[in-house]
Amino acid sequence: MRRALITGITGQDGAYLAQLLLGLGYEVHGLVRRSASAGLARSRLIWLGIDEQVKLHDGDIVDLASLVRVLDRVRPQEIYNLAAQSFVQASWQQPCLTGLVTGLGAVNLLEAIRISGLDTRFYQASSSEMFGLSAQPRQCETTPFRPRSPYGAAKLYAHGMTVNYRESYGLHASSGILFNHESPLRGVEFVTRKITCAVARIKLGLQQKLRLGNLDARRDWGHARDYVRAMWLMLQQDSPADYVIATGRARSVREFCGLAFAYVGLDADDFVEVDRGLLRPADIDALTGDAAKAKAQLGWEPTIGFAEIVQEMVEADLRRTRELAGLGSDRPRACLPSKPTDSRSSQTMP
Ligand code: NDP
Ligand code: GDP
Repeated sequence: MRRALITGITGQDGAYLAQLLLGLGYEVHGLVRRSASAGLARSRLIWLGIDEQVKLHDGDIVDLASLVRVLDRVRPQEIYNLAAQSFVQASWQQPCLTGLVTGLGAVNLLEAIRISGLDTRFYQASSSEMFGLSAQPRQCETTPFRPRSPYGAAKLYAHGMTVNYRESYGLHASSGILFNHESPLRGVEFVTRKITCAVARIKLGLQQKLRLGNLDARRDWGHARDYVRAMWLMLQQDSPADYVIATGRARSVREFCGLAFAYVGLDADDFVEVDRGLLRPADIDALTGDAAKAKAQLGWEPTIGFAEIVQEMVEADLRRTRELAGLGSDRPRACLPSKPTDSRSSQTMP
């Protein structure tokens, strides 16, 4: 049985990746940092119904000793480094922490692999944010990086070090340069989930307005379930490499709002207000990825379209909000999101 270790297993991608690997017959281990709210931290794994099937180990990506100890105990054949301070906006408020966790954290893990002498494959969660203010309309693996945020700069350092360990030590280290990807498990601070939560609350009469920042920002939004499959495919290749993972089509925040409100029969213009306080010190106007290399070499293509993503997220938030508010449901109030009702619904929400 193959063994994989996922850092960031409690996050959106970590949970979906764990589900994918379990389905492929892997023994799945995860690194989890200590929290006073440990029960909540596992909510995504619980939502997918896999919390009992993964083995969790205490550790922190900034604590090299804890990483060496966990690697020694688990001895994984594959390591997926998804742990990060992943929210761009917060990286201006916490630039040092972002550098420590998102940047140096990856190097801690690479060093832990080298120190423990493990023959393992390594995946680094790189980001389209590294492209930043790109001069090219579509970004691919050879596009120059010009990060626009402390988060983008930290990811670029981790990316460069992943390439460096590959070239210096022959480590099978691959980097996935992933464009934005969403799902019902996306953190509520990201714009897509902020919108779908608000749509549900407004539809149910619990909220009046939705305040957003830059409505004209364009992102290439895919679905997390598609994107974790690409991570796994990268580590199945004979040789390590870097790959852009994207849909190739960008939409604006305004378009996302329009579709999400329309799904519940409302007009976004009646509810969305621009709050200048939510504008970023430096934003990226548009990001659009070119995943031709991933298609040619990994056989990877996205399978879930934009409208389907919006629909799945709105439906999930309507269900969760109804439950939390005790509206129109005979279930007891729950602080955790409801589980999908059957195995198919975790693939496509009914
Ligand atoms: P999330 O924010 O949902 O998850 C981040 C994970 O990192 C959580 O499990 C979090 O744990 C963990 N973490 C944070 N700090 C530490 C630490 N000091 N030690 C150990 N673990 C820590 O991110 P996503 O799942 O959306 O993204 C996964 C990765 O992919 C991230 O690295 C992100 O930056 C990157 N990425 C994401 C994209 C996207 O669109 N989703 C696009 C491109 C890259 P806890 O639950 O305790 O907070
Ligand atoms: P990011 O691409 O990783 O920064 O993902 P986000 O979902 O946080 O932001 C995507 C885009 O939406 C950025 O250009 C933001 O400026 C824009 N945006 C507009 N309003 C908001 C908001 O209220 N919250 C967030 N998170 N982003 C917003």
